[in-house]
Amino acid sequence: MLFQPHIAVIGAGISGSVLTSLLLSHGFRVSVFDKSRGTGGRASSCRMGEYQADLGVPYFEALSGPFEKWLLSQPEIMGWQAKEYGFDKKVHIHKNHYVATPKQSALTRRLIQGADFIPQQRVGYLWPEYNGSDKSVILRNEHGKSLGLFDAAIVTTPAYQAAELLEAVPRFVNKANHAKPSMCWVHVIAIESGISDSIELISGQHAVISRAIKDSAKPNRSHSVDSEVWVIEATEDWSASHCHSEPEAIAIELQQAFSEVLNAEITVLAERTHRWLYARHNTTEDECLWDPDSSIGACGDWLHRGGSEGAWASANQMAECLIAHFRAQEAFAS
Ligand SMILES: Cc1cc2nc3c(=O)[nH]c(=O)nc-3n(C[C@H](O)[C@H](O)[C@H](O)COP(=O)(O)OP(=O)(O)OC[C@H]3O[C@@H](n4cnc5c(N)ncnc54)[C@H](O)[C@@H]3O)c2cc1C
Repeated sequence: MLFQPHIAVIGAGISGSVLTSLLLSHGFRVSVFDKSRGTGGRASSCRMGEYQADLGVPYFEALSGPFEKWLLSQPEIMGWQAKEYGFDKKVHIHKNHYVATPKQSALTRRLIQGADFIPQQRVGYLWPEYNGSDKSVILRNEHGKSLGLFDAAIVTTPAYQAAELLEAVPRFVNKANHAKPSMCWVHVIAIESGISDSIELISGQHAVISRAIKDSAKPNRSHSVDSEVWVIEATEDWSASHCHSEPEAIAIELQQAFSEVLNAEITVLAERTHRWLYARHNTTEDECLWDPDSSIGACGDWLHRGGSEGAWASANQMAECLIAHFRAQEAFAS
């Protein structure tokens, strides 16, 4: 492309990072804004002193061939066949999972390389601006400060946060407001090793815990032999019924439930509790949103079935839309 469109991507989760990587490879200039310090969004990782863990999606499961092929082509992705059990201690079929190494956020961090990354910047407003035949989108942060003019702006945040930013296109706001997010409490613990040597993943039917993942058992994780790191996800119903509880109270209940599941006393060395207000979206759609009049669009898991795979698929569609749009504009201008 002779003309190098400058695109603002709001959000550095899977959808924003995949979109950024595709646009960069087609000659676009991309600025990525995220309210957090790092990349990943709901595929981010956290530190607890000397320990680390994946705080959001713990691993990827490829539902389709194209996603699996893409995962396998990413240098930091490795297969993980976890030793998986039900809460009844019966062995589950060990499914093939994929994880980024040395942590989940490494994938998004590398995908946005080559873009201008602006962390800790919450975008509060975007609006189309017209200057004669020239069209651009202005971005402002939450305090009203201008973040610049762009040829297009793409919102990749969870649905309710997207609704606030998509005001210039009312039909998009309507769609975002109708999304169905579910919340999830997550409790991460580093414990003394040795109580669960043969178990790496526990899932199935339980009143409190939906899944417990031994993060330190994933490939290429650095951890001492004396400790293991577990991520305990609460069920959707339990999380919703404890939505306004204090993290300290959640920690006690999830630790107790986990200890009962393992049927062992656990010695906690470090811990962290996180509430994901919009952990997942239940959608029947398979799309991205693009409004050529305002040059504003959106993609992400709330617009496409499949969780993290949906975020990836929606970003692919968004990239195709933008590439076709700006190619047509360039052809028209020449
Ligand atoms: C605990 C947990 C477990 C999960 N397990 C699975 C699983 O097993 N399988 C699966 O497929 N999926 C799972 N998911 C869902 C999966 O993580 C998401 O579907 C996927 O990561 C969504 O990616 P995204 O890019 O659409 O959104 P996000 O990852 O939410 O990215 C959006 C980004 O936008 C940023 N942002 C928000 N508002 C603003 C603003 N105003 N200005 C600037 N930046 C902003 C956020 O900080 C974030 O980085 C899980 C999620 C959680 C939380």
